[in-house]
Amino acid sequence: MRIITVIGSGLIGRSWAMVFASGGFSVKLYDNQPGQAAKALTEIRKQLEELEEGHMLRGELTAAQQFALLSSYDDLAQALEGCFFVQECVFEQLEVKQNIFQDIEQLVGKDVILSSSTSCLVPSNVFSKVQNRSRCLVSHPVNPPYHVKLVELVPHPETVRTIMDTTHAIMTKVGQAPVCLKKEIDGFAVNRVQAAIIAESWRLVRDGIISVKDIDLVMSEGLGMRYAFIGPMETMHLNAPKGLEDYMQRYGEGIMRVLTSFGPVPDFFSEGSKSIFNEMCELIPTDQQHLAARKEKRDQLLMGLAKLKKDH
Ligand code: NAD
Repeated sequence: MRIITVIGSGLIGRSWAMVFASGGFSVKLYDNQPGQAAKALTEIRKQLEELEEGHMLRGELTAAQQFALLSSYDDLAQALEGCFFVQECVFEQLEVKQNIFQDIEQLVGKDVILSSSTSCLVPSNVFSKVQNRSRCLVSHPVNPPYHVKLVELVPHPETVRTIMDTTHAIMTKVGQAPVCLKKEIDGFAVNRVQAAIIAESWRLVRDGIISVKDIDLVMSEGLGMRYAFIGPMETMHLNAPKGLEDYMQRYGEGIMRVLTSFGPVPDFFSEGSKSIFNEMCELIPTDQQHLAARKEKRDQLLMGLAKLKKDH
């Protein structure tokens, strides 16, 4: 049985554990807060049963079979014993990540793949205290990874090709959709594209062009409809009679003109942001009840979309 160790049993650690178990891997879940990993397993069991009931369970195994593949640990050495792949999911703090990878390296063989879930830290920083960095990479999921399959694989400058290929194969086996970055860059690909969308949405609301509610509809009822199935490159390729080059001949100048009218990076911390925060809170109040209900709805909608994508 091939063993994957998941380090950190918070939101992302739990979701990775479920993803890997759905692909038939044996998963050892570790957290440095005593009892935390065991608690996470109780939560996972509940989720697996609910998913099975709703016919949304991933993989070929039953909920009980998948749960049987999971075990929890408060001891790092025991958690790492026998694993060939480590997926780290601890707090997003550089020093915490650097230290845990330093500890992990002392407890595993030199061929064990060391993978981080970091959203915002580049591999050359995360792995700076690791000796053998050729087996290190970031596997950045999108929340929640159980329902959103994309995972960005980002190499450390020293990472060897076979590590990228093996990780790509593991992610594909468990049903994720891996993409490979050829080299590291701040924000990777997902957060860079997301930041561009956030920035222009923010400027349009801030400048009184459109409301918070309506800019969200621009995505959810407009651009997002096709982006769930085809990306911006293919969208352009299909939107002109002779493909991408034809598209750019027709629309490239207009796009460049609009791009030059984009303002500088918005100041999210200025006084003016308060009215944007308030507008959002009027739509969805920030008390736990409203937020939890909306998050549940989001996950249900994502499950429906995942099912639709699977059937096509
Ligand atoms: P979280 O706060 O929910 O969970 C972190 C867990 O790590 C906690 O259970 C904590 O006890 C444990 N932990 C902290 N230090 C540890 C250590 N030294 N050893 C072992 N366990 C330790 O955080 P999260 O949202 O699950 O995020 C985890 C990672 O995933 C972060 O790097 C984050 O950037 C990344 N990520 C998060 C999201 C998201 O939307 N939440 C999306 C993609 C990637």
